[in-house]
Amino acid sequence: MTVSALAVGRLPLAKTASGHDRFYRRTGKPQGVILHHAATTSDSALAGAFVSPRRELSANYAMLRNGDLMAVLHEEYRAFTSASPKADSWGITIEVVNSSGAPGWHISERSFDMLARWLADLSQRWGFPLNRHTVIGHREVLARFGQGYATACPGGIWPRMDELIALANRYRSGASGQPAPAKPPTPAKPSTPAPAKPKGAALLEGHGVGDSVNVSRWYAYSNAALTSGKRLVSGTYRIIGVTYRHRGGEPVLHVQDPHGRKTWMHYSAIDGVIKGAPAKPAPKPAPKPAGKSVAQMAAEVLAGKHGNGHANRQRSLAVNAATYAKVRAEVNRRV
Ligand SMILES: [Zn+2]
Repeated sequence: MTVSALAVGRLPLAKTASGHDRFYRRTGKPQGVILHHAATTSDSALAGAFVSPRRELSANYAMLRNGDLMAVLHEEYRAFTSASPKADSWGITIEVVNSSGAPGWHISERSFDMLARWLADLSQRWGFPLNRHTVIGHREVLARFGQGYATACPGGIWPRMDELIALANRYRSGASGQPAPAKPPTPAKPSTPAPAKPKGAALLEGHGVGDSVNVSRWYAYSNAALTSGKRLVSGTYRIIGVTYRHRGGEPVLHVQDPHGRKTWMHYSAIDGVIKGAPAKPAPKPAPKPAGKSVAQMAAEVLAGKHGNGHANRQRSLAVNAATYAKVRAEVNRRV
């Protein structure tokens, strides 16, 4: 199950009112991307649509108004975004929250830039090129796939499709936003960086049992829909267990609230903010001589490990004068 490493969090998806998932398996690999604008400037309106019993909307990704990329559905799944099973099976879909309403339905410059980076990432990982055949707007779905409806979606992204694809191709070739430098005639060795780990997976692998996760209001709401009826309230929960035995491969967390009450929480209920110990604690610096106890240092001095003379010994022990005085006193006590 794949999620872009550019995603900084995950928005939850509830079942439909009739109890079905809002996704299917794709019939093949994704071959392109279908862009949608959310036709709202509200992040929570979009997030709410993914869990609303009155809507049957889903998407592989959502981009928040500020340009934060959120995973919604693994890339291997076909979302319910374009009113066309064929189109949604063909392409990876995204809903982008607008920065302004009608008539422009613009998106922020950061969103535009993140979209380009995300397109480059998808193109590299799934092996499709980026052009006007592989990157399309929702409004092109009806003519291309014979399914869907007439729409102005993707709003303000539409007049900028060529610009977006050009930027994405620059990211794809240069990775840093700069055009790729000419290849050296004799490359010493191929410098292929290790593929970035999907953020979603890293989030879980990196933050496991014992860490705490934040659950905010709408996640708590959607969690109630996703778990077996126990309602979580927003707040901080400590992870006490993880299980992967869940339809769709989404892990489920066994969590405990600050009052010690235990419940199960869908992984997607996590607010994207993890409060807790980092996955891999920073390597501890090698213990310095100064970290030794006075008794230990005194024993070493007596064993002759730090030479003769107080100045030499203090330098060898790498301690300050006050500590050395203690060592000296301990040595004197022992002899
Ligand atoms: Zn659309």
